[in-house]
Parts: sequence; structure tokens; C-alpha cells
Amino acid sequence: MNPTRVRFAPSPTGYLHIGGLRTALYDFLFARAMNGKCILRIEDTDQSREVAGAAQNLIDILHTLGIDFDESPLVGGPFAPYIQSQRLELYHKHANQLLESGHAYRCFCHPDTLNQMREEQQARGEFVKYDRRCLSLSQAEIDEHLAKATPHVIRLKMPDNHLFAFDDLIRGHVEMEASQSDDQVLLKSDGFPTYHLAATVDDHYMQISHVIRGEEWLSSTPKHIWLYECLGWQAPQWVHLPLILNSDRSKLSKRMNDVSVESYLNKGYLKEALLNFVALLGWHSADDRELYTLAELCESFNLERVNKAGAIFDLTKLDWMNGHYLRNLPLELVAERARPYFKDISLRDTEQYLAIIMAARERCNLLPEMADYAQMFITPKDPDPAELDLLKDEASQQVLAWYIAHLPGIDLGEADQVNQLTKNGIAELGIKGKAFYTPLRLALIGQSHGPDLPSTFAILGMEESLKRLQTHIL
Ligand code: GLU
Repeated sequence: MNPTRVRFAPSPTGYLHIGGLRTALYDFLFARAMNGKCILRIEDTDQSREVAGAAQNLIDILHTLGIDFDESPLVGGPFAPYIQSQRLELYHKHANQLLESGHAYRCFCHPDTLNQMREEQQARGEFVKYDRRCLSLSQAEIDEHLAKATPHVIRLKMPDNHLFAFDDLIRGHVEMEASQSDDQVLLKSDGFPTYHLAATVDDHYMQISHVIRGEEWLSSTPKHIWLYECLGWQAPQWVHLPLILNSDRSKLSKRMNDVSVESYLNKGYLKEALLNFVALLGWHSADDRELYTLAELCESFNLERVNKAGAIFDLTKLDWMNGHYLRNLPLELVAERARPYFKDISLRDTEQYLAIIMAARERCNLLPEMADYAQMFITPKDPDPAELDLLKDEASQQVLAWYIAHLPGIDLGEADQVNQLTKNGIAELGIKGKAFYTPLRLALIGQSHGPDLPSTFAILGMEESLKRLQTHIL
């Protein structure tokens, strides 16, 4: 059997989309599972859509997430270059080969002519495709155009009355009529190939065994199969991943903030959670397990368990997963990841910061939420007026006074000592439950709900705790 070789082939036209990340991840996982190679190829043949820096940005994000490639523009490889704009000669060679074998033809139609053709076909309710008027040009007419250097493209001549049948690893047996395929442009007038020609040529030369890509490319597969046939090459195994849908089953939003991987990382999602979540967009294990590290995914992933039905992008699940990772990753690691969100918060010391993170991660799902959560420890917050009244009660005043009197005798770093002090206070004052805890929390953090008392005191520290309690003594 040929070795498994898969490729992630993004076009550097903007940001890395959640769908792109899923393709890259599945490529990576499949290659690892099969002991094969995962290749990164940059498909930059649409010069008008290219965004400077996009390719590097994409490589950086994937690297941050732990997805590295065996062959790529960065690390090179036996089939370099891995950037399509550096392989133009190869595409020209094969476009010419197709011209010579009669499988392709030159088309000199002006864009205005093509627009008009499209509008007329649309008005008649027909399938929009090139009407092949240039296919009947005589050699003399073609030579005349070439002599005048009329801008032109090279089109693939699709077969008539042909049924394309192929087996897709996820979708099973697929059949498509050739009549549903246009005579695809292979080489554009600027001399650059289209995706269809370049990807086919490269997949062949790079010995790609499985083409793993989004379902939106399924309708192009007949053109690619035809190209392989015309060029006398063996086609790879086709693998079309399911669409990613919003919760209401509509197509996933195109708004950048909703689908760009970077924007999720910037919003404070952890890379571990994002990867785990994206892995489950279409794939699940036999036991429906939900939580996986990248290493565990490498062991468990297989393409057979990828669904063909659309995968729902459920943000609530991502939030839940993120919360899980916030609570379960090592404290120091979470603290490090949360640091940028705390840059405007003045902290006493590292110990206080870690105590805040420890308390906050129990209650927050996102990194920035932890910084919001921390505010109550940094700046004293006034309880609302009704709560202020409660603080004036005799019982409340007794509770505050108890702590002011006894706190200095204990070590706030020792949770046991704080718990013992609280027990003693309840017994001594004969005040319990809400009547005991609410005034204490209101004085300490300005609200009636918050972390447990040992954490609260540890975060505030002796000086600040006493100060806050004192403020409310009448
Ligand atoms: N360059 C294509 C894209 O941007 C790649 C499609 C494929 O994987 O064949 O999605």
C-alpha cells in the first residue's frame, strides 16, 4: 500500500477559519494515526485575493495549537516548493499538455461577454456554464488572437453525457452528471492557474494519498477526477468533511469574529479547549467521549467515525469545555495564560495572583471573565443600599467585630485556621447561616456571594481584610 500522505492546502486570503482548522486538524490526526505525512501547501494562485502576511499568520496559529507539518514552506521537503506561486512552470506544462491532447481549449471571450452569457442563462433558468463558443474557433482564428495577444484563458473540456462515480471515505458512493460541471478555467489570463489545475497537479506530484477537504468542494470533484483521467494519473482517495452549521442548522456565519480561530484565541478561549471542540465537529468516538488532549486525539481519531451530516457549532459547548480546561490544567499554566488580562490590575504579589486564579477558575469559563471576577478583591465595591442597611444590624456588627478582633491572631494562608475561627465565631455569637455569612461577605467583597472564606481572606490579605471590615463598623 502507498504511504499515507495528506495535505492542508489553504489559500492565504485572510484569517484561519474554524473550518480550516478542522481540516488541518483532521489531516494531522489522520496522518499521525496512519504513520503517514502531513503536508502544508500554500495555494496562492489567486493573486487578487492574497492578503500579505496571511500565510505566516496561519502557520503561526497552527503551530501555537500544536499542529506542525512534516513538509511545508517552512521546513521544506522532497517535493518543494510548497507554495503554488513558485510552481507556475509545472502548471503551464500540464495546461499545454491538455491543449495538445485536445482535453483543453483556449477561450478568448471578454469578461463582458461571459457576464452577459451568465445573465441570459439565469434569466432562462438554466444551469450557468460556459457555452463553448471558443471551442469551435478555427486554428487560423486562434492564431490571429494569439498574434494580437488577446487576453485569454485555457478551459478544460468536460465530457458530454458522462456519469462521474467515485467513492468518498465519508460520503460513500457518489454519482454526479458531467452536465452539472462547467468547462472549468484551468489557466487564467494573468498566467496563474486556477485552484482546480494547481491542486490536481500538486496532489499528483506530492503523492497525496487522501484529499481531505470541506464538503463545499464536493461538486468540484468531477472536474478533478476528469483532470486526473486526462493527464493519465491515478486519483487520490476523496474525503469530504461535513459542513459546519450554526445551532439552527443554517450555514456557519461568515462574520470574521464568529469564525476566525484567532478571534477565539483573542477572546480568551484556551487552545486545548478549542482543539478539543473542533475535533468533535463531525467526529466522535464509539463511546461518545468528549474530552481529549491532542495526544489522545492522535491515538483515537479515525476517518470512519466522521459523520456526513452537518456538524453543529455549539458555542455553549465550547464555553463548557473551556471551563473544564480552566479548572483542570495546572494552576501555573492557567495563571500564565490569564496574565495578559490582568495587566491593568494591580496585584500585591504572585501569591495573591495565584489565589485569585484558583478561586476564579472555579466560577469562570473564559480567561477575561477571571479578570472581571478579580475586581472585587482589588477595588472595594459598595454593597447596594438595602444591603448597607443590613450591615448596620446589631448581629452584622457583631460578626464584623468578631473578625476584626480575632483575625490578627491567625495565619490567613492556612485555610484550617480560618475555618476554625469561623466555627468559633458561630458558636460564640450564636449567629449562623446567612445572618453570619452575608454581612461578612458584603463587607469584604461588596456582594453576598463569592468564594469560600479562606480563599477570600487569603486573596485580600490581613491588612485589606481588616480595612474592609473596619469601614462598615458604625
Ligand atoms: N485552497 C483550497 C481552499 O482554500 C483548498 C481546497 C482543497 O483542500 O482541495 O480551501
